Amino acid sequence: MNHIIMNRKFKLIFATKNKGKYNEVKKMMPKNVSLMSLNDLNFNLDIEETGETLKENAKIKSDFIFNNYRINCFADDTGLEIDSLNGMPGVYSARFAGKNCNTQENIEKVWDLLTGHKNKKAKFKSVFSLNLNGKTFFFEGKIDGEIIFQRIGKNGFGYDSIFIPNGYTKTFAELNLIEKNDISHRSEALKKLIIFLDKQKYL
Ligand code: IMP
Repeated sequence: MNHIIMNRKFKLIFATKNKGKYNEVKKMMPKNVSLMSLNDLNFNLDIEETGETLKENAKIKSDFIFNNYRINCFADDTGLEIDSLNGMPGVYSARFAGKNCNTQENIEKVWDLLTGHKNKKAKFKSVFSLNLNGKTFFFEGKIDGEIIFQRIGKNGFGYDSIFIPNGYTKTFAELNLIEKNDISHRSEALKKLIIFLDKQKYL
């Protein structure tokens, strides 16, 4: 007798090559979602983030991947907004110290510009853009905290090691995946996306 195995998993691309982001999102995704990153698709191009806002850049990425693969897709764009720097680096967080700069150079630029400022308040903001069958939906999350002048912690990525969320004494890079996901900008946006997909009966 033939048994037909139904694959009930909902196929979804997370349009990122960033393993740190992917791991955070994967950990929270319901098990009936078959999640793929751009690494899983062997997608090696750089999608140019030419937008002036997180929302525009997230949409550029999710549209590009949906239009090429015709698979439902979401992208996140995240920025670190520092009060004393009038919200910089913001949408330029990835390339703050120059086009091909690395994390250490970005962090050093933050420290350079923040030196002498009393107010070290900052926030991470994430915008998710979901392209569902050609229609776009946005979800946002943020977390407030403070910048410190040394790198502490080995977990996470990007600016995690210099950011202490409000109410904590540890940096994001000292928290494990579950602890960061409890409070982070990205998890707040992702929770909204998951609730939306659930309401739409995709999950
Ligand atoms: P993008 O969203 O990939 O454009 O990332 C913008 C910049 O912010 C990159 O330098 C990332 O490494 C950094 N970044 C994004 N998300 C986080 C985070 O959750 N913690 C720390 N840095 C982040």
